[in-house]
Amino acid sequence: MIERFDAIVIGAGMAGNAAAFTLASRGLNVLQLERGEYPGAKNVQGAILYANMLEKIIPDFREDAPLERHVVEQRFWFMTERAHTGMQYRSEEFNEEKPNRYTIIRSQFDRWFSKKAQEKGAILLTETTALELVQDAYGKVIGVRTDRAGGTIMADVVVLAEGVNGLLGTRAGLRKSPKADQVALAVKEMHFIAPEVIEQRFNIQGDEGVVIEAAGAVSEGMAGMGFLYTNKESVSIGIGCIVSDFAETGKSPYQLLEKFKKHPSIRPLLEGSEVKEYAAHLIPEGGFKAVPQLFGDGWVVVGDAAQLNNAVHREGSNLAMTSGRLAAEAIFQIKSRREPMTAENLSLYEKMINDSFVMKDLKKYKDMPALLHTQSQNLFLTYPQLVSTAMENFLRVDGVPKIDKEKATVSAMKAKRGWTGLVGDAVRVARAWR
Ligand SMILES: Cc1cc2nc3c(=O)[nH]c(=O)nc-3n(C[C@H](O)[C@H](O)[C@H](O)COP(=O)(O)OP(=O)(O)OC[C@H]3O[C@@H](n4cnc5c(N)ncnc54)[C@H](O)[C@@H]3O)c2cc1C
Repeated sequence: MIERFDAIVIGAGMAGNAAAFTLASRGLNVLQLERGEYPGAKNVQGAILYANMLEKIIPDFREDAPLERHVVEQRFWFMTERAHTGMQYRSEEFNEEKPNRYTIIRSQFDRWFSKKAQEKGAILLTETTALELVQDAYGKVIGVRTDRAGGTIMADVVVLAEGVNGLLGTRAGLRKSPKADQVALAVKEMHFIAPEVIEQRFNIQGDEGVVIEAAGAVSEGMAGMGFLYTNKESVSIGIGCIVSDFAETGKSPYQLLEKFKKHPSIRPLLEGSEVKEYAAHLIPEGGFKAVPQLFGDGWVVVGDAAQLNNAVHREGSNLAMTSGRLAAEAIFQIKSRREPMTAENLSLYEKMINDSFVMKDLKKYKDMPALLHTQSQNLFLTYPQLVSTAMENFLRVDGVPKIDKEKATVSAMKAKRGWTGLVGDAVRVARAWR
């Protein structure tokens, strides 16, 4: 049996649900395919949800979305083996009527988001894997072949929201698989703790939440970071590093996570917790230079499948939702004009995404992935150690004159990087940050 839809969306993650919701809301006939048992069954995120991008899709989402805590405090930790130097920002401004960031649990959130798309009329088929894109003699994508019996389905346009692996698009030759230095492998655990213990440990009340991002010795010189986020009755803890670094060093993400959990600054935060879930997932971290062709005849690609991820700010789901929404808006406009889904017409999606924060942010940090990779030893080992040495010298009161302590700090810096190294590093970071 061959059926025909206005659009087929592959995947019911952040990008796919945003696209399906927007397309169905505009009255298009949408089919969504999800290989998992239910939306979110296989999806992994820290997870911080950025409210602004969801509001643009479902303005009243706070009424019934499964939200954990709203974030009032963010801590950044530069770690050595036995210490951390911290910077933190906490503000009453984040205790606003409509908070800006929430922690979520993707298995619950994706189900809710998908239900919203279905309420608008999108048809969801779970436990259905899209195996291959169907193309006509000219290469135009005209449908999808699934693993269901007789499961070829035709559509005017296919939205590829299949996540970081993006097998469907690469199999069809629409883009290359991301390289090992363009993706991070992250592992994450959920530790269950009584809500009142979480509130006391993190100095929060009600549904306030705290997030911690940790860089330094935890990644053992590889480009990567650890995180710890508070949920209602659990904390999510995880760590991720670039895949090629794991391959070169032979280290495993699981070892890093075990070490991170035992760090003296982290261990007390997990004390008495019960681990209930463990997950591993890739994150696209190649940045602007890794973004592939975003559209073609009969197709568009959104979210992680399009490498839309801002590793510097740890943002991915918001870029996924925004790209899904913009792709759907572009498709709707083309459909409204009764024009075909050609590459020329679908280039509207690229224009819209270039004009949005998504591509502007990725462009701003275009040189950052290379810097993090080539300078990982300095940025993730040398500098956290130097900062820690400086803090120790500054704070320890032991009868050594302060002038001698300052000299010790400066000579440690000179010994590790030298003046030219220090200036060069500052220039490199400033350039990549522009
Ligand atoms: C450990 C970790 C922590 C993170 N933390 C954050 C964070 O705190 N904040 C943030 O904004 N981002 C975070 N991210 C990034 C964020 O999770 C992603 O950017 C986001 O999930 C991308 O959404 P997506 O819809 O593109 O892909 P996904 O969420 O991966 O969804 C893809 C969907 O497609 C389905 N699928 C794939 N292939 C097929 C097929 N052939 N047929 C049918 N279905 C298919 C999958 O089952 C899946 O449901 C984190 C990522 C990780 C791994």
